[in-house]
Amino acid sequence: MNNFMFYSPTEFVFGKDTELQTGTLVKKFHGTNVLIVYGKSSVRKNGLLNRVKKSLEEIGIVYTELADVQPNPTDLKVYEGIELGRRNQVDFLLPIGGGSVIDTAKAIAAGIPYEGDFWDFFTGKSVPHIALPVGVVLTIPAAGSEGSGNSVITKVDGLKKLSLRTPEVLRPQFAIMNPELTYTLPAWQTASGITDMMAHIMERYFTNTPGTEVTDRLCEGILKAIIEEARKIIADPYNYEARANIMWAGTIAHNGICGTGCEEDWASHFMEHEVSALYDVTHGAGLAVIFPAWLTYMINHNVGKVAQYAERVWDVPVSEDQKAVAQEGITRLKAFLCEIGMPTTFRELGIEHPDIDKLVKHLHANKGERVGNYVPLDRQATREIYEIANS
Ligand code: NAP
Ligand code: FE
Repeated sequence: MNNFMFYSPTEFVFGKDTELQTGTLVKKFHGTNVLIVYGKSSVRKNGLLNRVKKSLEEIGIVYTELADVQPNPTDLKVYEGIELGRRNQVDFLLPIGGGSVIDTAKAIAAGIPYEGDFWDFFTGKSVPHIALPVGVVLTIPAAGSEGSGNSVITKVDGLKKLSLRTPEVLRPQFAIMNPELTYTLPAWQTASGITDMMAHIMERYFTNTPGTEVTDRLCEGILKAIIEEARKIIADPYNYEARANIMWAGTIAHNGICGTGCEEDWASHFMEHEVSALYDVTHGAGLAVIFPAWLTYMINHNVGKVAQYAERVWDVPVSEDQKAVAQEGITRLKAFLCEIGMPTTFRELGIEHPDIDKLVKHLHANKGERVGNYVPLDRQATREIYEIANS
């Protein structure tokens, strides 16, 4: 096991009606003048926005609103938010939504006190040392951004989708998580979220670091629970317990605990970011296409942990033929993805002729000549994986 630092100070407030505590929580974390950030329409339609506003008003907190954050959020909304936030002298960011809304709010929180261009943080030109505090009302379990210090933004000019990782600065102060808010999710978004959270665990699980038995078992246990609970939601979208379990799984998949002591991989996420940057597909659905292809490539390049994953997560019988075990695990993963309505090829994702040259070129321009750690991937390897996803 590697040395590690795990610091997860977010206060998670979980359960029915918890959004009614928003005002109290903002006040607890010293917010007085809030920038509320939300998406296109869901929080207006289901009345959540009004309930949150009322809870702020009741406690005397003033607010400004930034609406219309799009899925795969862009730098344009961040610039707009920084300008609006500065003009109104806000001291707290309150995203109501999912990863797109939360990541936009985090970028604004880091951008407001920074004299330069916030995009510097995403290119690595600068590191944020301070940010305005962020508190979250989560509406979709998926990205795990409510418990992470990460933000993912696409620069419209050049279609660069890049991530920023600063756990010490950008982790939310609190995250309000009411599973009932997820009843209104379209099946596609529920399934994309489930795929994303599974991918967050797998990016950490596929490591060469020895001696990570506790972390391995934690990952395997959560993956198995997600698979079971996902099936219950497909059967009954109003199953509160299943919605609650999936919501909490999305957080612990990505708050860092599933990677303690491990060198993490993240190649599949970086490969997917190029796909959603270029074709604007749903992130989780993109991962449903990329991750099985990445695993298939690994059969011939580092099969050990893929076979362990197949045995322990997908209950493939143990055998000396590790490649066959790994292959069966991938078959079962794909069957599950299909069961919850996810695509597993570019074609099923709606991309008939992916521009693989461009995907490879952008990926290595953004992430360097070697991507990932389980097997560091060069241009030939990433091309092969994109081609597997296209077969
Ligand atoms: P999202 O993009 O925030 O939201 C997806 C869609 O779901 C939106 O159209 C939204 O509609 C709708 N929606 C959300 N909650 C709803 C509800 N309760 N009922 C009905 N519709 C609802 O989803 P996400 O998967 O959480 O975020 C994806 C983004 O996060 C991607 O850009 C991805 O790359 C990024 N990401 C970030 C991290 C991180 O650590 N920061 C990790 C992984 C992925 P409205 O717009 O109408 O609200
Ligand atoms: Fe993700």
